[in-house]
Amino acid sequence: MLLENHVGGRWHRPEDDGAALLDATTDEVVAYVSTRPVPAEQAVAFAREVGVPALAALSYADRAALLKALGTFLVAEKDAFADLSYATGATAKDATIDLDGGFGTLLAYASRGRRELTGEVLVDGPVEPLGRGGTFLAQHLLTSRGGVTVQLNAFNFPVWGMLEKLGPALLAGVPSLVKPAPQTAYLTEAVVRTIVDSGLLPDGALQLLVGEPDGLLDQLDPRDSVAFTGSARTGALLRAHPAVTRGVRLTVEADSLNGCVLGPDAVAGTPEHELFLAEVVGEMIAKTGQKCTAVRRVLVPRSRVGEVAEALAERLGKVRVGDPRDPATEMGALVSKAQRDAVLDAVTRLADGGQTLVAAQTDHAIGAFVGPVLIVQDDAARAVHEVEAFGPVATVLPYDSAAHALDLLARGRGSLVTSVVSHDPGFVREVVLGAAGGHGRLLVLDRDCAAEQTGHGSPLPGLVHGGPGRAGGGEELGGVRAVHHHLQRTAVQGSPDALTAVTGRYLSGAARRATAEHPFRRRMSELTVGDSVTTGRRVVTREDVDHFAAFTGDTFYAHTDEAAAAANPLFGGIVAHGYLVLSLAAGLFVDPAPGPVLANTGLDRLRFTRPVKPGDAIHVVLTCAALTTRTKDQGEVRWDVQVLDDDDRPVATYELLTMVTA
Ligand code: NAP
Repeated sequence: MLLENHVGGRWHRPEDDGAALLDATTDEVVAYVSTRPVPAEQAVAFAREVGVPALAALSYADRAALLKALGTFLVAEKDAFADLSYATGATAKDATIDLDGGFGTLLAYASRGRRELTGEVLVDGPVEPLGRGGTFLAQHLLTSRGGVTVQLNAFNFPVWGMLEKLGPALLAGVPSLVKPAPQTAYLTEAVVRTIVDSGLLPDGALQLLVGEPDGLLDQLDPRDSVAFTGSARTGALLRAHPAVTRGVRLTVEADSLNGCVLGPDAVAGTPEHELFLAEVVGEMIAKTGQKCTAVRRVLVPRSRVGEVAEALAERLGKVRVGDPRDPATEMGALVSKAQRDAVLDAVTRLADGGQTLVAAQTDHAIGAFVGPVLIVQDDAARAVHEVEAFGPVATVLPYDSAAHALDLLARGRGSLVTSVVSHDPGFVREVVLGAAGGHGRLLVLDRDCAAEQTGHGSPLPGLVHGGPGRAGGGEELGGVRAVHHHLQRTAVQGSPDALTAVTGRYLSGAARRATAEHPFRRRMSELTVGDSVTTGRRVVTREDVDHFAAFTGDTFYAHTDEAAAAANPLFGGIVAHGYLVLSLAAGLFVDPAPGPVLANTGLDRLRFTRPVKPGDAIHVVLTCAALTTRTKDQGEVRWDVQVLDDDDRPVATYELLTMVTA
């Protein structure tokens, strides 16, 4: 089977016979992969001409729904990929990281998109007042740059690697061109075929390019981006690529010498000691160590290195290495014999001058097998901070103090993730704050989170994945920021009316329209941003304050004790509870009869700006600020609420959220 490109809305067979890709366990040919340059020009043109407009025609909500449908579809198809996943050397457990992890990532992005990418125009951050009179404001917008994104992916996550990039790009409305690493491209191709066959994605949203990437980046311009995952060496080459120097955005997720630090408190017999052993061994053998997040450097208090290394070696020595299709197998093969040779070469460099406790078993005649390797080195060893053996290999290093452990971690020059296994808050604080600047993610592992923790190696879609320095050093992204990354952030300055017109969100100071009937009587479809009601006045009495204090039990002295309240430097006398002001405001603006408003779902940005004293009168201006469709029957209406005194000065301001019938 020669792998095909999916370009221009159809499958194309490359013109050469391709190079054979072998099953990692049996050495049988799984597929052939072209060694010719990929049809880059055609793919980029189709993405621009067809993919960009097709995605732009969909709203953020539509695209989130599309992602959900796609993720759900792929989950149902998962079994179809099992054989090809085994061919990569992955066990069934490993496959859950790549396949289930990938599909779950799409679903997680779908739900984040639905909740966090609301409105037709995305705004980022609060409104910035630029003048004292409130007539000149600024707001950051996020809008499409109209470009495409190219994925250059590593071999170790043929599915997750593609989908974790596809999710944010689709949400942002950006077409993806996926260039998988050749070693496992057959699994990527199978998933892309399934996606194409589903008919869920618009034409041009996803194209697959299998072959040599030569010339691909030359087709790109500053509207476009490249998301690279792979070795630090290739990452460095790409940083110097002319496309990047002329403005194409590049993110690099590269290799990383991740750490796991055993706290001094985590001695044998503590839950943390066991957690540590399980985590290190689990991370070394998962995907046969071919994970960018795998633990490479194991930091142990100096006096306990021998004991801990022995305990790790004992467990590693029992790991069942073999055919990943056999359910008893705990660790499958590396992806290829070339990868095995590279790992063994790296082991030679890492072990130089150290002690090898568990050595790689390389006696399999067929398949790309190695056994786990555990090396113990002195803290002066250099290679351990420079060489990545991309396989089941880790090195134990002694440390003398938290500061010393931090120094060792820093020698990795930037990492994706380090785990700190300790139940000592002081040690945890020192290591986390000291290491954070050199890491994308830190996992603090202890007995309290043991049952729920997801492991050193699992970046969740909402969290930063990526690291500084050697591990990438681009934008470390996580959650909705991965979507924002594809968009242009622009500061727009102008009057409240101008910004309201642009963003579709009401800003204080913009024109309001008093509606004939109370806006609570209007359904979503009948409401317009700016629809408003101004209530009558209510005088807040001392009896109101006393009653509220007695009724709620909130007898804070500023509401109940004349003398103490008089001494308060902010109030100089009894003041109404802030919550009383809110409650009285609701009493003023609520239209009580059953109608389209179904529920109050929260308040945002609440500020009490002036004290309200007995005898003061308040009134409310309630304005429809934003409308977000949630389902076909309901949506969220955000109301700007200004509670004002008799001089029209705000005493409380907030945004009220309600669910309203569509
Ligand atoms: P790689 O050799 O650097 O290749 C990665 C991808 O880049 C492949 O698709 C490769 O395609 C492509 N590529 C290579 N040279 C290129 C060029 N000049 N222009 C455009 N594309 C080019 O890495 P790998 O061996 O596949 O992956 C293993 C490495 O990835 C490990 O070091 C691991 O730590 C790292 N990794 C990092 C992360 C992370 O998130 N930080 C995640 C996974 C893996 P061709 O082979 O066809 O040239």
